[in-house]
Amino acid sequence: MQIVTRIDEVKNLVRQLRRQGKTIGLVPTMGYLHEGHLTLMRWAKAEQDVVVATIFVNPLQFGPNEDFAVYPRDLDRDSKLAAAAGVDVLFAPPVEEMYPQGYENMLAFVDVRKITERLCGASRPGHFRGVATVVTKLFNIVEPDVAYFGQKDAQQVVVIRTMVRDLNMNVRIVTVPIVREPDGLAMSSRNVYLAPAERQAALVLSRALKLAKEKLDAGERSAAALIAAMRELIDREPLATIDYISVSDAATLEELDTVRAPALVALAVKIGRTRLIDNLLWEEKQHVSHAF
Ligand code: AMP
Repeated sequence: MQIVTRIDEVKNLVRQLRRQGKTIGLVPTMGYLHEGHLTLMRWAKAEQDVVVATIFVNPLQFGPNEDFAVYPRDLDRDSKLAAAAGVDVLFAPPVEEMYPQGYENMLAFVDVRKITERLCGASRPGHFRGVATVVTKLFNIVEPDVAYFGQKDAQQVVVIRTMVRDLNMNVRIVTVPIVREPDGLAMSSRNVYLAPAERQAALVLSRALKLAKEKLDAGERSAAALIAAMRELIDREPLATIDYISVSDAATLEELDTVRAPALVALAVKIGRTRLIDNLLWEEKQHVSHAF
């Protein structure tokens, strides 16, 4: 595996590989890799000749009071894990390489409207603009045939798919199911923030989704009833503060009154000071990808 920090270098490398007729898969991450990221990388490796993974904690997608400065970073560990997962090129640029004029001075952005204002977008203004912009930059730098994203960040997937469709970007998007810890907690780099009691409390997210799935399977179709049941379960956990619970159309993210498939049941909950997200994609009469 080659580790590259410069844009020119990664462009040249990928161009050479493409000239040899190889297909390119891209896996964008913020690093501090866990089994969720590694699953994306292995999936990409199974489908493409060459896998380019990126590690970049993108300042543009963090709010002023968010965790950019303290976000966990460990490039040595990440490069070993990425190599073992089959990554061929690891692109890990410093911030100055991606934003030479300073990210605060950027003049051009990619803005996806409406769907970025709901769910996580409501409590993280500007977040998805930062995501869409950096993903566009990575697409332009790497020019992948296919890019792999995790269902863990369900809204991100909808935003990226919409951007690719509306702007005719020459890349196919593949979504990989959520990878969970054995007890149900969705894997996240931010899980390292959790103190032991918080780690236990964090199970309310997956438990609430499991409850929603049971109710859906039993025929419940009222979004309000699902949300109320989830809220009640989470409110019993003293360390948990609900940011949002949403039942929406999985394609448009518009809130539903009556649930119809495919629906996205999504939530964001603060456990202590750590904001966690999780979701359930509900597709009627289909196997749901989540292993609760
Ligand atoms: P991040 O480093 O958190 O920005 O995540 C990089 C990519 O990995 C994104 O496409 C995420 O959706 C995906 N990802 C993160 N955690 C998981 C998980 N538990 N299961 C599946 N994909 C994940």
